Amino acid sequence: MKRFALILSLALTLPQLAFAWGYIGHKAIAEIAERNLTPKAKAAIERYTNGTPLHEYSLWMDEVVATPPYNKALAGWHASICDVDCTSPKIVRERYRKSRDGVTAMEQFQLQLKDYKNLSDSTVLTAIKCIVHIVADFHCPTHMRYVDLHNEGKYPVDFLGQRWDYHAVWDTGIVEAYHKGWDFVKYADQLNTLSKGEINKITKGWAQQWFEDGSRAVRPIIYWVINDGKNIQKLDMEFVNKCGPLAESQMQKAGYRLAKALNTIFGK
Ligand SMILES: [Zn+2]
Repeated sequence: MKRFALILSLALTLPQLAFAWGYIGHKAIAEIAERNLTPKAKAAIERYTNGTPLHEYSLWMDEVVATPPYNKALAGWHASICDVDCTSPKIVRERYRKSRDGVTAMEQFQLQLKDYKNLSDSTVLTAIKCIVHIVADFHCPTHMRYVDLHNEGKYPVDFLGQRWDYHAVWDTGIVEAYHKGWDFVKYADQLNTLSKGEINKITKGWAQQWFEDGSRAVRPIIYWVINDGKNIQKLDMEFVNKCGPLAESQMQKAGYRLAKALNTIFGK
């Protein structure tokens, strides 16, 4: 408990108000993870959640982002950063991040939860809620920070005839428009289809490797939209169809990797 309190008390500046993946994306990722838990991990987790589905927790970090004490305690965990080669070792994270980052948070949780049975129930439940959110967030394209590029996307675009913030296009716009009418269960059904071999391949490593893989896949999209500060770029269904497969792939990987994280921590 003390150690967790210490991690939480390393409160820092600059909370990043960001809502990666929105309602459908976050819930779909948590649902895919839930379906891939080992029986042992599932039972261990349910001791803390009383059987509440993981997707119910998936947006909690965004819901409390402006509420004390969480606004400080959980600040900075919604994004992660890598260098020009899309690598994210500790030295890069510590040097370039604004406050804190999701990859480091996942390394801390892995260490801290090694003896989760000796932590208080509320501490473990809070950690579960955070992990479910953080792994999803650092798979979201506009939550990936590159040391040499500003890709947060905080500028207006015309998205399908309406004024949007480009950041929000990746958080929710593409997921909602790519398969109109799909809810998170439908997304989970469609994306939870990889073979055991494919799952083993994409879940190798831990947060740093997962984030680096995503940041390599995502980096080219930064050039798809240009912000010259004058002209509002129009993004139509052709753009949605171009981005949709990448958004789906990132959600799919996030779901399986979230399961791997929870199985590693709670499956022993
Ligand atoms: Zn977030």
